[in-house]
Amino acid sequence: MTIDEMTSAADIAIDGFQPFWDAAASGELRFPACCTCERFHWYPMVRCPYCNGSDIEWKSIKPIGSVYSWTVVQRPFDTAFKNWTPYIVGLIEFIGAPGVRLITNLVDVEPQAIQFSMTVSPAFDLYDTAESRLMFRPKEMPTGSNQ
Ligand SMILES: [Zn+2]
Repeated sequence: MTIDEMTSAADIAIDGFQPFWDAAASGELRFPACCTCERFHWYPMVRCPYCNGSDIEWKSIKPIGSVYSWTVVQRPFDTAFKNWTPYIVGLIEFIGAPGVRLITNLVDVEPQAIQFSMTVSPAFDLYDTAESRLMFRPKEMPTGSNQ
């Protein structure tokens, strides 16, 4: 099998994630939380990974996160992303959803300007419902980013 024959990550639709994408289309950030122990978890599961509870609710949080880690991709592993390179993949945490770390793309920022704990917010204006891709950008554009 060649890489062209492989299914693009952007083409994969997983039903359990639909509430996340529906919220993004409405300009909201929502994550699953257990109604029994009240802990958030990510990715979506039918049972809570902490208490095994089955009463899961999607809760809206304030759309602000912080950068936990990131990398700059120079060579795409999938040809679907070849026109994007170089692009930044970030791991984002949320004060409003402790325990959740979301893998996403960081946009509107130069790689050298990214810092650990940098505040970011969802780029809802760039959200593409067809591709289910929600990216994040610095909450406030950094000044002096050429340092
Ligand atoms: Zn629980």
